[in-house]
Amino acid sequence: QRLLDALSDQAALAIERINLSEEFDKAQRAAERDRLQAALLTSISHDLRTPLASILGAADGLAALPELTPDDRKALLSTIQEEAERLNRFIANLLDMTKLESGALMPNMGLVDVSEVVGSTLRRAERILADHRVETELAPDLPMVRLDPVLFEQVLFNLLDNASKYAPAGTAIRVAGRREGMSVRLQVLDEGPGIPQPELGRVFDKFYRVRKSDSQRAGTGLGLAICRGFVEAMGGTIEAGNRVVGHGAVFTVTLPVPDAVKPETAP
Ligand code: ADP
Repeated sequence: QRLLDALSDQAALAIERINLSEEFDKAQRAAERDRLQAALLTSISHDLRTPLASILGAADGLAALPELTPDDRKALLSTIQEEAERLNRFIANLLDMTKLESGALMPNMGLVDVSEVVGSTLRRAERILADHRVETELAPDLPMVRLDPVLFEQVLFNLLDNASKYAPAGTAIRVAGRREGMSVRLQVLDEGPGIPQPELGRVFDKFYRVRKSDSQRAGTGLGLAICRGFVEAMGGTIEAGNRVVGHGAVFTVTLPVPDAVKPETAP
């Protein structure tokens, strides 16, 4: 009986320890959640206020200075337009992230011509790419792929947006697509600073930024997390790399070629 009592005391102690460590884990998770939420709020306030301040400034300029030259007026109007577009993208990113996290994302998959989606995304991104040289290199035999064109366009748009933000004006941004075995590989390559080797895996984490200075730029630190979530929801993978060590970021999206397409186009 004494042995049994001792054992049950031991068991009670062990259970208490487990409970305590569970409590501790719970408290740690709650603290981490609070920290992320605070970071999100700070980031959101900053990212909403920066473009809003530019919009208000430009609108004030337009209202207060009736003797503006047509060129000045045009410049102020295009500031308003660009900053409003930035706000729009930012809010879209936040909504996308919410959808991903709540599990409410339902990809609307269909057989799609990747070249067409690349074309429509490049047209949509024309304004943000205006300061760069855009080169496309799409293999003529790109097979059709199963994807959700809206999600895929968002992925490509985020990658182009990053390339235009982080690579210096005047450099080339390349979009390359080719078939590789039973997959289609689409890459966005730039001539910017690239991503340090040890950080390659982390750039897809929420709020992760490689350089401290990156958080000064408009952006949420959510773009690549959304890219990964969307690509994986479509059954693909996304990877970060560099063209050469320490220079030129390369983002590679790989999507499987569906069985129905394979026999017709297999080499
Ligand atoms: P952000 O809103 O900061 O651009 P992202 O999730 O899109 O957030 O990117 C995360 C971080 O990865 C960026 O802050 C930047 O440090 C790095 N990064 C993303 N794309 C590139 C790129 N093309 N070249 C260099 N660094 C990049």
